[in-house]
Amino acid sequence: MSDRDVNVEPDHTTASGGEKDIAVVIEERLLGASSSACLSPVPPCVTTAAGVHDSGTPLASKDKARNPSTMGKDDRNTDSKANADIGYAIAAHVGKNRNRLRSEKVLQIKGTSEVMQGKQETNGNSNGSSTNHRPRDRHESGHRHQRKKKPVTVDTSKAKTSLEALKLSIKQLKWKEFPLGRRACCDIYWHGVSFHDNDHIVSGQVNKFPGMIEMLRKINLSRALRTMQELFPEEYNFYPRSWILPEEYQQFSAQIRGLKDGDAAAHRTFIVKPDGGSQGDGIYLIREPSELRLVADSRAKQAVVQEYVQRPLLIDKLKFDIRLYVLVKALEPLQIYIAKEGLTRFCTEPYQEPNQKNLSHVFMHLTNYSLNVQSDNFVHSDSQSTGSKRTFSSVLYRLASKGVDIKKVWSDVISLVIKTVIALVPELKVHYQADIPPGKPGPTCFQILGFDILLTKNLKPVLLEVNSNPSMRIEHEQEVAPGVFEYVSSPVDEEVKVCVIRDTLRLMDPGQSKPGVAQKGGVITVKACAPEKVQEEEPSDGLPTLCLKQVYPKYTKQFQYLCLVDRIATLFLRFLGIKGNMRLGPTAFRTFIRCCKLSNSNLPMASVDILYIDITRRWSAFTPDSREAGMGLQAFVEAFFQLAGRRSKSAPLRDQVASLLEVCEAHLEGPLGALPAAAAAAVSSEDRRSLSRGRAMARNASKLSPSSSSSTSTSSSSTTTTHHPPLCSPAAPRRAASHDQRLQRARHGPLRTHLEN
Ligand code: ADP
Repeated sequence: MSDRDVNVEPDHTTASGGEKDIAVVIEERLLGASSSACLSPVPPCVTTAAGVHDSGTPLASKDKARNPSTMGKDDRNTDSKANADIGYAIAAHVGKNRNRLRSEKVLQIKGTSEVMQGKQETNGNSNGSSTNHRPRDRHESGHRHQRKKKPVTVDTSKAKTSLEALKLSIKQLKWKEFPLGRRACCDIYWHGVSFHDNDHIVSGQVNKFPGMIEMLRKINLSRALRTMQELFPEEYNFYPRSWILPEEYQQFSAQIRGLKDGDAAAHRTFIVKPDGGSQGDGIYLIREPSELRLVADSRAKQAVVQEYVQRPLLIDKLKFDIRLYVLVKALEPLQIYIAKEGLTRFCTEPYQEPNQKNLSHVFMHLTNYSLNVQSDNFVHSDSQSTGSKRTFSSVLYRLASKGVDIKKVWSDVISLVIKTVIALVPELKVHYQADIPPGKPGPTCFQILGFDILLTKNLKPVLLEVNSNPSMRIEHEQEVAPGVFEYVSSPVDEEVKVCVIRDTLRLMDPGQSKPGVAQKGGVITVKACAPEKVQEEEPSDGLPTLCLKQVYPKYTKQFQYLCLVDRIATLFLRFLGIKGNMRLGPTAFRTFIRCCKLSNSNLPMASVDILYIDITRRWSAFTPDSREAGMGLQAFVEAFFQLAGRRSKSAPLRDQVASLLEVCEAHLEGPLGALPAAAAAAVSSEDRRSLSRGRAMARNASKLSPSSSSSTSTSSSSTTTTHHPPLCSPAAPRRAASHDQRLQRARHGPLRTHLEN
């Protein structure tokens, strides 16, 4: 990904205006701009300088980078620590720090009044200024209202490291906590890791979506975003080019060799991230494919290798990244909220563009808190605007003071978040339907995600990753005397995280939910991403204005055209037929072709079978640990792209796909639309027949259908084509068994916790 230099004019509105708050201006930008213009660079101005001096202490690995004073204690794995004894340690600090935050001077940036105001109110600042009149009025009316209501019940027994922030939130809301769980149902279940932390939840709401952990693993996120990049290259250029290892090693090497021949890219650097890793674990930088440590043999661990952003924006000569909290309130219709306040995490060694000497300098290149906290240079700060962890608004303030158009930065960030969630939603819907089939008892879901974003020197936001379990810790370990460690409150974390949790709870208050918003049972609709209007919730209970801002469906009009894969997923779900399954059998695939009338003399059913087998086989090789056979959503999307390409060869892919979707949707709206469910129910015998027919044809597949061996979304390498797992046997009992196995694995298997700091 290239960082484009842009010419800059000082932003006079920021400097002198300030009449409109940031949310309004962002809204104007998002509503006014054409969708593709959302990422077009508006000239910003940055005057921060890059620091160029080498510390001269190369760190070959993260272990070597550890500060000897903290070596031996695992302050990164926060999950396993007992939360109970944390409570006492923090309690004393919490009150003190909250007072300190209150008395801190409130930053005033013209044009950012909403961000700042949110913070002021969040801090509980009731100094009688005019900004506080509204909340106080609400407080009074809120009391009248609250007397009638039963308190909302929250099961916190599985909250793990978010427990402290959750307790404070529940207290502020005057809700009822059940720290040991409850025999009767609770309104809300707060899980620390996954949807499956608590089994047998039949009602209420859970703060995790099924499948989110899997979807946000580095490889799956890269795949989902790559599919979107194929359709909308301009719109999705916020994610660095990535290759999946080991299967795309050949392409990666070829690409680098190609780059080497041209001068421009001679000094490219790449970052290698193990799939499923977190907190910077196992990450390293390379400049040559030969430096890869993962491809020694075909059993190598999976990883993503990604273009390294070489020129990040620096503050005080240090690289930093932004952690933004995003609430996915519902999948259908999609509802997204972004926290107005976030965190910035700073490196602890001045940044230099990568060179052979500094490639291993962890404190220079990786912004992870869990790594940098081990550096002698790490500064724990109780102020929001200094230290190695700061609030995002304090950084914006700093940038605004240098003439940066921070409204543009915010609007680009919002755009990145919406587009990323749109890329994730299709697969999440498949997981959702498999775990909570429509019509069966079960909870609804919501989830707070942690978006890690880097700003380039030219202020372009780049997505690094999305965390399914962003750390909600509000305390950190500190050495209070030599060798004595204690948990102490972290005011900056508390400032940001308690508001996010509290306001998420307020948005999920069952007393406020509107019937039209419930997603359960509503997954299968042909018109996905419907632009249903959901009102911005207003506080009615004496609490501050929400720190979470709704961005979707608010900006549906600007982004709905991106929902092509979501519409493909809707077709996929419709033809899955039997609840609980996540893979399409061959007969269901044929039924899809028939119902949508896609077969003709150019595409006989024999070719359809070959297409199914070819693509399913390759995707099975990409996910060798999956025990469920058949065609998953990603494989179906690839098949759909191929079918779309056959119909209108010269058009851009997105037009091909949009046009095929219209054909399919039009046919399914007709009388044939009722067929799939019935057809899928009686699937087994025909499936077996078509499979053996298909297998016979597959032997001639490459001769008959050269195009079927090329992929539009990924290409196989020699390391993956040798693996030929059995194709599906889709008889109903087997299907049910495989579903059970999957559930068992998900519930009791070695779930990667993905907890991070
Ligand atoms: P993890 O989940 O292990 O933290 P990340 O993808 O967040 O993995 O990467 C860790 C750190 O590496 C980031 O916080 C960031 O500082 C740096 N980083 C990651 N990807 C890039 C990239 N493409 N360009 C520059 N820096 C990156």
